[in-house]
Amino acid sequence: MNYYNDDTFIYWNGEIVKASEAKIDLYSQTLHYGFGVFEGVRSYKTASGKTKIFKEDQHFERLKNSAHALNMPYNWVSEELIKATYEVLKKNNLSDAYIRPLVYSPANMSFNPNLQSFIVIETWEMQPFLGEKLLRVMTSSFERPNPKGFKIEAKATGHYVNSILASQEAKAKGFDEALLKDMNGFIAEAPGANVFIETNGVVYTPECGNILPGITRATVIEICDGLDIPVVEKQISEDEIHNADSAFFCGTAAEIIGIESLDNISFKKHWNDTLGIQIQKAYKNLVTEKENIKKLQTA
Ligand code: PMP
Repeated sequence: MNYYNDDTFIYWNGEIVKASEAKIDLYSQTLHYGFGVFEGVRSYKTASGKTKIFKEDQHFERLKNSAHALNMPYNWVSEELIKATYEVLKKNNLSDAYIRPLVYSPANMSFNPNLQSFIVIETWEMQPFLGEKLLRVMTSSFERPNPKGFKIEAKATGHYVNSILASQEAKAKGFDEALLKDMNGFIAEAPGANVFIETNGVVYTPECGNILPGITRATVIEICDGLDIPVVEKQISEDEIHNADSAFFCGTAAEIIGIESLDNISFKKHWNDTLGIQIQKAYKNLVTEKENIKKLQTA
């Protein structure tokens, strides 16, 4: 994957510079201890031809909240970062893009807090993170981080050691992706996406507490409300997911992607007959502004 070349621009601490010219301190606390926060955002070319960052306010708000959760200094204003992101997209000639803001720490080999943070916003073209084919998923031997040990509502760089371990385990065993449980044995989420199941016409998703509360997850709930699909947030057991009619993952990078099987057991419904595919279509229309939530509600 080529993330950048000599002509790529990034936003870096208040300036737009060439990606190849920016430097990071090799003594950064983020690099050594995974003590940083980031976002995963997408922009789309809308039906009217304009470039629109989907739910930009929510993403930059979460970036700020993640930094606060980790006691990282954060003095940026979302509005300015959003403006800068549009500028970077334009400079890079991108419309359908993945956007990666990262807030990182200065040189600090101690565990003491910092007086300063740095920010970079990178953009690149990226297809759906988990592909577009239905997924073969395995229940991971790794659990999601315990909320008593981490600020799990923060999108912190270090948490992704857990994600990478789980994803690599799944791929080494011939699966497409992992599904992780929480420390109580309930279904939690994928390494980089939330999960929904469908059972008897009702859509369920793990309640907040032991998951990253995804912005796409919130969008799916809004879509369900608009489409009159009942949606329930609750603890989901392994048995419940194994007996579900269908299931899907959702996230900014992955968008909405159906799951064919879990631990080699296929879901009962054909993806084309699921509520998931209706939600997937509505999501595509929403991000490209072919449709809005209000329209869904009056349809
Ligand atoms: N869970 C985890 C662990 C993630 O990394 C992501 C991706 N940010 C999600 C869920 C989905 O979050 P969002 O919809 O905000 O992208």
